[in-house]
Amino acid sequence: MKRFDYTRAGSVSEAVAAAAGPGAAYLAAGTNLLDLMKGGLATPARLVDITRIPGLSAIEALPDGGTRVGALVRNSDLAHDIGFARAYPAVAEALLAGASAQLRNAATTGGNLMQRTRCPYFYDPASACNKREAGAGCAAIGGATRLHAVLGFSDACIAVQPSDLCVPLAALDAVVEIAGAGGHRAVPLTEFHRLPGDAPERDTVLEPGELIVAVSLPPEAAGFAAHARYLKVRERTSYAFALVSAAAMLALDGGRIREARIALGGVALKPWRARGAEALLAGREPGEAAFREAAEAALEGAAPSGEATGFKIELARRVVARAFRLALAGSPERVPALPGSAFAGSAFAGSPSPISRNAGASAHA
Ligand code: SF4
Repeated sequence: MKRFDYTRAGSVSEAVAAAAGPGAAYLAAGTNLLDLMKGGLATPARLVDITRIPGLSAIEALPDGGTRVGALVRNSDLAHDIGFARAYPAVAEALLAGASAQLRNAATTGGNLMQRTRCPYFYDPASACNKREAGAGCAAIGGATRLHAVLGFSDACIAVQPSDLCVPLAALDAVVEIAGAGGHRAVPLTEFHRLPGDAPERDTVLEPGELIVAVSLPPEAAGFAAHARYLKVRERTSYAFALVSAAAMLALDGGRIREARIALGGVALKPWRARGAEALLAGREPGEAAFREAAEAALEGAAPSGEATGFKIELARRVVARAFRLALAGSPERVPALPGSAFAGSAFAGSPSPISRNAGASAHA
């Protein structure tokens, strides 16, 4: 392993100052970064530990009715915050569909956004990879491609972004709060991850030294609470990344769809918001015909990036239609099907509670 400096920051400004030099990386749980370092795939000159920074571990109800999730809120704490899970059931469902219980207990909200692709060639130092080394080539093109993209890929990279959490966040218009040397800025989650284009080495729009401090959900996001689902299809039922996933949400009014939201995971190098499908559903009666049309629209422009990815297009259409069917059936009543979900035990039944001010306190309620 390459030698590196280690520094522990006591505040956001201290962290940003410490990461100002070349080759710095932020360390939170390290569930992806430390693996990359052990494999020689990430070689930061300096690790800036942000885990002791106060104020980044809270789930806060905002005055406007939105919710702010600190970058250091653990995945399991967020999924099991009963107020959060009731307001955003598809987010809780996505969190519980990710990784393993041990990883969810460690992994953070900010780190989840920053996790890198799981393209097997990216993790193999013997394979050419433009994402690892600009201009090196792409061993996946013409290689084994079952897990690769069907939307938004380029001649330089055909990988997909692996996050579950980011999919419902994209559907709910989440906003990423970023701190840097020039102050704070906000970026919509749908614009946070970059499609590969001719520069796949850059995963996100973060500039060097910038730090995610929070992710916020706007007040409208809770309006989908009654009909919101996350559906993940994978090659085994736990501890696997999505072949295809979808977060589907419906706001119903007088038997019709007032507004629909749909985002897909596992199909592109960013969570794929399908706004054309959403527009198609607005004002319609919910049902199989409408959902199938929306599924067609959601995959508009899709194409295989390799010989073995073609199946994902039809799979994604079916996942979209089924996710809408599940959303129509309603949440949270459907969510108890998930072992370990905030709704699994009868203790929570019929006792809605506000979003807590402290994730750790409510996680063990
Ligand atoms: Fe690297 Fe992207 Fe090609 Fe995978 S698909 S080998 S991540 S350039």
